Amino acid sequence: MSTNLSERDAEVIWHPYTQMKNNMPAIPIVRGEGAYVYGEDGQRYIDAISSWWVNIHGHAHPYIANKVFAQFKKLEHMMFAGFTHSPAVELAERLLDLLPSSQKKVFYSDNGSTAVEVALKMCVQYWYNKGQARKKIIAFKNSYHGDTFGAMAVSGRSVWTAPFEGLMFDVHYIETPNRNNITQLLEEISQIHQEVACFIYEPIVQGSAGMLSYEAALLDKLMSHCSTLNVLLIQDEVFTGFGRTGKLFAANHLQQQPDFMCFSKGLTGGALPLGITSCAQYIYDMFLSDDSYKTLFHGHSFTANPLCCAAALASLDLLLTEETQQNIQRICLQHKGYMERISLHPKIKGIRCIGTILALEWETGEETSYFSKNRDKLYKYFINKGIILRPLGNVIYVLPPYCIRYDDLNYIYDVISSALEKI
Ligand SMILES: *Cc1c(COP(=O)(O)O)cnc(C)c1O
Repeated sequence: MSTNLSERDAEVIWHPYTQMKNNMPAIPIVRGEGAYVYGEDGQRYIDAISSWWVNIHGHAHPYIANKVFAQFKKLEHMMFAGFTHSPAVELAERLLDLLPSSQKKVFYSDNGSTAVEVALKMCVQYWYNKGQARKKIIAFKNSYHGDTFGAMAVSGRSVWTAPFEGLMFDVHYIETPNRNNITQLLEEISQIHQEVACFIYEPIVQGSAGMLSYEAALLDKLMSHCSTLNVLLIQDEVFTGFGRTGKLFAANHLQQQPDFMCFSKGLTGGALPLGITSCAQYIYDMFLSDDSYKTLFHGHSFTANPLCCAAALASLDLLLTEETQQNIQRICLQHKGYMERISLHPKIKGIRCIGTILALEWETGEETSYFSKNRDKLYKYFINKGIILRPLGNVIYVLPPYCIRYDDLNYIYDVISSALEKI
């Protein structure tokens, strides 16, 4: 057997979102600290995309580690039907305090996709329990809500979903709103609303679509229209939650309130997997019955795992400190400053900044695509400069852990600028 970890990996591992033929060998990482991770060879990398958008306070954070360890020594796991524990209850209490006042109950699961699955099932069963056959779901054309079947079905149809065409339930897709189409979108929803169970959306910014943003005021219009027509609202904050957009939640940019919210990614500070679906009281009440068929028959073996809840509580502590809040605002300003300096560069087709997210669309002479040839070149260029940036096709985005140092963020901008000259 070979001793090199990359080679051993290639023998036995199948990586996510990776064409395993001719791909670059996986880079062994042995340790992390703050915004840095370290390779086996001692090479330091700046994690400029927060390890797939999950890490908000930096790697191997000692505060989170200590809280998780302390919890581990008390209780590592307990099934969550018929039993409860303090980390789960405290996390629900503290999270609900921060959410829009419509949110009253918390349901735990394992990741962003399951948080979406749970919201969809609650939604459809809400109408079932009520005795109304409303099963259609409205979603944005280019949305992303996860990779399990239900979450995939409500995501935009693309090369990712093509092999499963015909196996996913029907979804009514609408364009994301802009000043020109908003009236037509409202009309479209009016026409079909009687069969519609819910509208699911990524609020304000759509991550996987390429960090595309749209106006909060227009989402408010859609939300208010749906609520008037009794179309339930699922606000997927898996990506936008916990400070990403510059405010605690995307909900803080909105006037209207959703019926359901989904969380994961930054929830535990990126330390452990955990998903949350929150909902309004009237949703929960529709499942209360002497008829046991009205029960929500859903649960996972590791529902509300105490270690994950402890990590989430520790992450919330850190998130709410003055220091983290200032870091978030500092990153927003640094991003804006760089955007202003670079926006007229001829290689930049588009540039946008939403809170701590900066996204640049590379001019490649071809249409923007996930399979852009530039992608691999850019990825390697940044890796060689000690920066982890994982372009979505020809869209480069920077969304660092909030603890990233001022100088490190400027270094990332400098390397992007040099790549603009060379690639
Ligand atoms: C990442 C993501 C998901 C899926 O979360 P996983 O934990 O990867 O399953 C769902 N919705 C949105 C908006 C996401 O960005």
